[in-house]
Amino acid sequence: MSKKLSATTAGSLPKPKWLAESKKLWPKWKIKEEDLWEGQKKSVLQWIHAQESAGLDIISEGEQFRIHFVHGFLQKIKGISWDQKTKMGIRNNRYTVEVPTVTEAIVRPEIIHLKEAEFLRKNTKKKTKFTLPGPMTICDTIANNYYQSREEMAFAFAEILNTEAKALATAGIDIIQFDEPAFNSFNQETIDWGVKALEAAIEGLQCKTAVHVCYGYGIQENIQWKQTLGNQWMEYKTIFPSINDSNINQVSIEFSESNVSPDLMLLLPDKEIMVGVVSVVSDIIETAEDVKNNILSALNFVDRERLIPSSNCGMAPLSEEIAITKIKALGAGTQLINNNN
Ligand code: ZN
Repeated sequence: MSKKLSATTAGSLPKPKWLAESKKLWPKWKIKEEDLWEGQKKSVLQWIHAQESAGLDIISEGEQFRIHFVHGFLQKIKGISWDQKTKMGIRNNRYTVEVPTVTEAIVRPEIIHLKEAEFLRKNTKKKTKFTLPGPMTICDTIANNYYQSREEMAFAFAEILNTEAKALATAGIDIIQFDEPAFNSFNQETIDWGVKALEAAIEGLQCKTAVHVCYGYGIQENIQWKQTLGNQWMEYKTIFPSINDSNINQVSIEFSESNVSPDLMLLLPDKEIMVGVVSVVSDIIETAEDVKNNILSALNFVDRERLIPSSNCGMAPLSEEIAITKIKALGAGTQLINNNN
């Protein structure tokens, strides 16, 4: 009997319409500050239920407690000015956003996501995953007016992330995943220092660790960018050898509906691979059969013991209905494989 595959998502899930603005990357909360925690918890419970009902085995809180995967983490860190906004081209100028600015040495005054991790742990018996932004991606989503270089700032964030991750692991989280979409935008820097900063962030962690490297949310800017990358996307080919040499346990990659050649998974022989078997664009609705076929094609290049069916990226900008349909297909497609072997 082959090992049962355990499915999961890459992390974020849409916020319900009553909680925050829909289909936006930086939405505004729709309920009053004093009611926010209760509202977020209600939404998390719904998403835990949706993931479990779909048959997923590794459950997240869907990032319902944060407005954005990077800025939600940065909000509580000292040394960052939110008044001093800087207009910056991020992900190698793929889009321009107004970002806060680092003006002093950064300090984490408290554990940022502890209550949230404890809430997730308490409300599912399945394995749990919690996502944090990776050091390089943080540094590509904030302006630097203090450190000598982006690299130096990344290592300062790695130190903070390391203590945060250890606290979340102590709270019972099984997998801490660092999101590093910037790895695909800055291949050379990833090899030079990005993976090393990531390793500093996971040093001494007792739980499983993962890195998520994608081609971005299913938004227009990314869809257009992908069209410029040619018939074979080669970014992974450049960075996978460095990632394989690192201490990270799992690598979350984009695969479904992409121009990522499945044989690139051969470059990660020592890692578990979270393979994106559902896309995160809203005009593609996968069936269980599509998911099954994606898993089968990945299985030609990664052993079953190391394969974790997943989504290509976070689903935050999608509608709730589409995200639920995709989660169901992910669970059902994984089930088809598990039933047949
Ligand atoms: Zn992603």
